[in-house]
Amino acid sequence: DRLISGQSGPGEDNQDRAIRPNTLREYVGQPTVSEQMEIFVGAARGRREALDHVLIFGPPGLGKTTLANIIANEMGSTIKASSGPVLEKAGDLAALLTNLEEGDVLFIDEIHRLSAAVEEVLYPAMEDYQLDIVIGEGPAARSIKLDLPPFTLVGATTRAGLLTSPLRDRFGIVQRLEFYSTEDLTHIIERSSALQSIEIENGGAREIARRSRGTPRIANRLLRRVRDFAEVRADGRVTEAIADQALNMLKVDYQGFDHMDRRLLLALIEKFGGGPVGVESLSAAISEERGTIEDVLEPFLIQQGFMMRTPRGRMATQHAYLHFGFDAPEGEAA
Ligand code: ADP
Repeated sequence: DRLISGQSGPGEDNQDRAIRPNTLREYVGQPTVSEQMEIFVGAARGRREALDHVLIFGPPGLGKTTLANIIANEMGSTIKASSGPVLEKAGDLAALLTNLEEGDVLFIDEIHRLSAAVEEVLYPAMEDYQLDIVIGEGPAARSIKLDLPPFTLVGATTRAGLLTSPLRDRFGIVQRLEFYSTEDLTHIIERSSALQSIEIENGGAREIARRSRGTPRIANRLLRRVRDFAEVRADGRVTEAIADQALNMLKVDYQGFDHMDRRLLLALIEKFGGGPVGVESLSAAISEERGTIEDVLEPFLIQQGFMMRTPRGRMATQHAYLHFGFDAPEGEAA
């Protein structure tokens, strides 16, 4: 298992319950998103209407599920959650929809993984609060129509481009989450420490923040591991030096890269001369799924300026060459 993956590990969601923010005020960072959502939620509440459907996209661990829960909480409504891969048949979604009460938030994670048949059911539900479904097969098949109560669909996905355009077009509100700054992550780590009675110095929180790939889930996970280290190797207090030693032991480098990031960048530089190279070739070279490269590895490497996505393929930047102690190439690489 990858320590610095944005995806949640086993049991982690339980540990997270105590530190997950419940209100927009507690939601650290993402100022544009917070400001807009405060207005949209306030307006919908004022009109006593269901909030328009919201699409949230961004890499794993940036706070999509958290935001969906906050939206429900701030609307004073109940959240019902499911995910794209779980809703296999049209009937699965119909069962969820017919269970909704007025104003409920229906959260569908990985919404890009809904099948075409299930998406078809979602369109009239989103647009007109209508359920339109065929039951049975052949000559006995019947189509039934039901009115649904007004509800808010909150969909989450790693990349907006994965959605079909008819689905994307039916969301009135689209929010894109950005990687968090070191300041925001420091704040998140200090908040999590206080809630879990972890003694931490500002320098310790900063050190963990700097090496958390701009991702709150990773920051909280590294905090738990650094705390273990501090308790066993020191007096339990997380100082900058303790955080540094612990993260070095965990093989998280000063940029927050781990072996997978290094493998990807090194392949790009050493096997493909810095690129451009197609993502499929990269995927084969490092035996990593294309989806993982696109959703988890490369967004952060691109944001940090270590690689670029060009029409001809992925390229390593000068930054990447220098990081590994190579001379920067002439010409091609940026
Ligand atoms: P995603 O659904 O995008 O994978 P989550 O919403 O599950 O990510 O967030 C992962 C964890 O990170 C949450 O459980 C929460 O504790 C923390 N977190 C996410 N966003 C924030 C935020 N803006 N402020 C504070 N903590 C956050």
